[in-house]
Amino acid sequence: MKKHRNLPFFVPFAGCPHRCAFCAQEKITGHKETAESIQAELAAFDSMMANAGDLHTTENQIAFFGGSFTGIPKERMIALLKRANAYLEQGFASSIRISTRPDLIDEEMIAILKQYRVTNVELGVQSMDDEVLRLSGRGHTAAQTRASAALLVNNGFVFGGQMMLGLPGSDEEKELATAKAICDLGAKEARIYPTVVFAGTKLHQMTLQGGYHPMDDVAAAKRTVPCLETFLSRGVKVLKIGLQSSPELANAPYGPTDGSLAELAYGYLYAKEIMALAGERAVNKHLTVCLPRGELSKVTGHRRLVLKELQPVLLPRTLDLREDEALSVPRVKISIEG
Ligand code: SF4
Repeated sequence: MKKHRNLPFFVPFAGCPHRCAFCAQEKITGHKETAESIQAELAAFDSMMANAGDLHTTENQIAFFGGSFTGIPKERMIALLKRANAYLEQGFASSIRISTRPDLIDEEMIAILKQYRVTNVELGVQSMDDEVLRLSGRGHTAAQTRASAALLVNNGFVFGGQMMLGLPGSDEEKELATAKAICDLGAKEARIYPTVVFAGTKLHQMTLQGGYHPMDDVAAAKRTVPCLETFLSRGVKVLKIGLQSSPELANAPYGPTDGSLAELAYGYLYAKEIMALAGERAVNKHLTVCLPRGELSKVTGHRRLVLKELQPVLLPRTLDLREDEALSVPRVKISIEG
């Protein structure tokens, strides 16, 4: 079986009529929101494809990212889809992925996406709590998300849900409910993003005025764990945790700016598993913990944050951490001796 590969192309949503409190699209993505001409954009797309290297040894998916693909002018959207279809017909890619807002999917859009062989549609769900959506200035409701997800699933698209942690008015309970709702809506894929406060956003003003309290890296990682567990237990593939590392992210004035949030979140997930398996039985004993291959650094890395939290609770005499090829993420195996 060929290895899957994404061919990402960023489509800026210039002129977005919404004003999400957290939005600083160019800062999150490192791209400017300036609109290009359709011809210039198609040329940039061709250039991305030309520079993608050998496309015959992998199973390729063209991915239009940027948040609201179905909200850009229709002529521009169809031009991009037609060009992507030309590459599909030549065998350079086999499918197309887009992401958009829940209120930008309707029957007409479903027909266009089907016609141009889009297979995966990610919705910026962010929260399934209407008050959180309102305070975040999203401009759509949870009911609209439910309706759009149903349209997508009933029409055979692979539906992916993107959610955010730490939005204004949100808490762990609402975030877990959002993760569960995304699963219930039939998602096969999910992304978990933390709320970061970028300069110049409404959220920045709210933070400076004391109306919003940002999470730090550890809080964001810990809040990720129950949502991650939910997705993993329901067979929903978690495509991404955290924002793309960039100078803009590193320089954001408030919020979880560590670009390796996923590693830390998995670290805390493993810590939870280890505590559940070992608990008090490990006190003053020799504890051996096996993690899946390549996962050790998630517990030992990050200035040993996870390990420091784990050891005083378990109180083992010795703690030996190893990797075990037979384990799959996020399984853990322990043995206690002495
Ligand atoms: S995050 Fe909100 S304001 Fe920003 S581009 Fe997307 S819909 Fe528009």
